Amino acid sequence: MNSLRCLTSTRYLVNKLLLSTPAQSSNLILPTLLSGKSYQKFYFSREFSKKVGKMAFSQDELKKKLTKEQYRVTQEKGTEAPFTGEYDKHYKPGEYKCVVCEAPLFKSDDKFDAGCGWPAFSATKDKTAVAEHDDSTLGMKRTEVTCSKCQAHLGHVFNDGPKPTGIRYCINSASLKFKNSK
Ligand code: FE
Repeated sequence: MNSLRCLTSTRYLVNKLLLSTPAQSSNLILPTLLSGKSYQKFYFSREFSKKVGKMAFSQDELKKKLTKEQYRVTQEKGTEAPFTGEYDKHYKPGEYKCVVCEAPLFKSDDKFDAGCGWPAFSATKDKTAVAEHDDSTLGMKRTEVTCSKCQAHLGHVFNDGPKPTGIRYCINSASLKFKNSK
């Protein structure tokens, strides 16, 4: 009975902390209240909820929603094999959305054939559509591109695109969902 009361009190305290403290503070306090595994589970679910914002998909939901390749590319920063993606040679008019959260990312007007084996765009749909991050994996210095809304991995951006932007967004087809323009 005492242990049940103790567990209930701990849960109450944790819920109060969740609702009332900023993430940084609760991340310092909670490890002292929860055992290692419980804290890890809590921490990662909280970080994940922040990451996807209103979409708030769980990892299980994402695994059901996405194909294995879409999950590997968007959630594990994978890269599809060149010349294999659905949109590599795809030039229909429309827009390309994030396959995870469906945020509009690129327009077909900005798509061009870079001959690299992945869909290439010279611009994003708007300035805030994607976020850029330094990437020094695989012994290279590159700039990773993610969806601003859900942080899904999209690909990389390079400074060897066509004029006038001179930019080449090299994007995995597996991160995209095409919508025809009407
Ligand atoms: Fe997204």
